[in-house]
Amino acid sequence: MRANMLVDGFVQEKPRYRAYTHRHLDAIPQLAGLPRELRHGIRLATQVFPFRVSNYVLDELIDWDAAPDDPLFRLVFPMPEMLHDKALADLDQALANGDQEGMRALVFRIRHGLNPHPAGQLDANIPVHEGRRLHGIQHKYRETVLYFPAQGQTCHSYCSFCFRWPQFVGDRSLRIASSRVSELVDYLRAHPEVSDVLITGGDPLVMQTSRLESILHPLLAPELAHVRTIRIGTKALGYWPQRFVSDEDSDALMRLFERVVASGRQLALMVHVNHPRELGPEIARQAVSRIRATGAMLRSQSPLLRWINDDPRVWARMWREQVRLGIVPYYMFVERDTGAHHYFAIPLARAWEIYRDAYRCVSGLARTVRGPSMSAWPGKVEVQGVAEVNGEKVFVLRMIQGRNPNWVQQPFFARFDEAATWLDELEPAFGQDRFFFQSDC
Ligand SMILES: *Cc1c(COP(=O)(O)O)cnc(C)c1O
Ligand code: SF4
Repeated sequence: MRANMLVDGFVQEKPRYRAYTHRHLDAIPQLAGLPRELRHGIRLATQVFPFRVSNYVLDELIDWDAAPDDPLFRLVFPMPEMLHDKALADLDQALANGDQEGMRALVFRIRHGLNPHPAGQLDANIPVHEGRRLHGIQHKYRETVLYFPAQGQTCHSYCSFCFRWPQFVGDRSLRIASSRVSELVDYLRAHPEVSDVLITGGDPLVMQTSRLESILHPLLAPELAHVRTIRIGTKALGYWPQRFVSDEDSDALMRLFERVVASGRQLALMVHVNHPRELGPEIARQAVSRIRATGAMLRSQSPLLRWINDDPRVWARMWREQVRLGIVPYYMFVERDTGAHHYFAIPLARAWEIYRDAYRCVSGLARTVRGPSMSAWPGKVEVQGVAEVNGEKVFVLRMIQGRNPNWVQQPFFARFDEAATWLDELEPAFGQDRFFFQSDC
């Protein structure tokens, strides 16, 4: 990347992307201000969880005076509390011994104990075409196919809570990726019921524009006219908004978006925004208006996370700010049962209260957001509320998306449980022995 560019005759410094990983913790100047013990704990946690942070996040988003409690600090820095005591002690020992082989084996063991692929992700959703399993493609809901381009399986920074964390840790047995867009095209040609393709990762916008184009271009072919919407999941707005504004190929990216829109397809950027502060910097706002100017639309989603955004005021602020900028609030997710779930999880009962309280203080235009929603094995399950029916306290649930299309929009009930954090901890209400989606054989 060139360091400088000429703007109106002045040489302006062009922001350069730099990232730090667990090998460069000591090179992060701001960390030096934190207590030694905490830095050591972070060092242990970064052996297991993916860690990478861009200079932009360090310099523009994190409030270092509030660290380590700062939500943006917690967003990217794995903390020792994310590991159980035994794992921490073992890591400490292995690090002290300088035993690299032992460390690798230990880290492998700890990671595999963290439910790396919840909801049957690695197996259950991989489609088969002409007798071959298509790795890097997932087809769970009838209308929507997910595509994981191999070059997009990384991010500008990593979220400490990431449910895609197996994608980043260099363990191939945990990874989902495809390098052949032709397989995607063949599959789509054979599946006219698919109207949406979601390109996801990682973050597909870490790819150069030319590479992204080599994926998008084939999707615009007339024989794929049934593909009406192309979605791109991205966190670049929060972690590296320069991607849309000042990177070498950001203009080319905008022209590419325009071409997709001109083809008559809907282009939707599914932006992951976890905290309203991410939308504050001028460059992030510029990025939003440049994207909107191409005719692409922006929709937002985020999980609800302890330490980061477990406060209705934070969500209300975030949704209001999004509506103001022209981003449509789309999903509030329940944090998945993977990785450091115990650390980030919010009980479903509390998640629903946070959603409700935030929803109550925003206008109708922000009430496009659905949630709190669990992406579980049978589908996306929304907690609609808590009610009392015939003296029994229950959760009212709804299937927003279903592995079986006939399940969609089906309301159902579970016994109220103040502590439950995920669908598999819930019991059917009214003395029934199974939920409607559980088969009776
Ligand atoms: C959420 C999700 C989708 C998209 O669902 P929409 O309701 O269309 O937004 C598609 N596939 C998988 C596996 C998902 O989790
Ligand atoms: S941006 Fe998304 S995929 Fe990347 S680390 Fe964060 S949650 Fe994971």
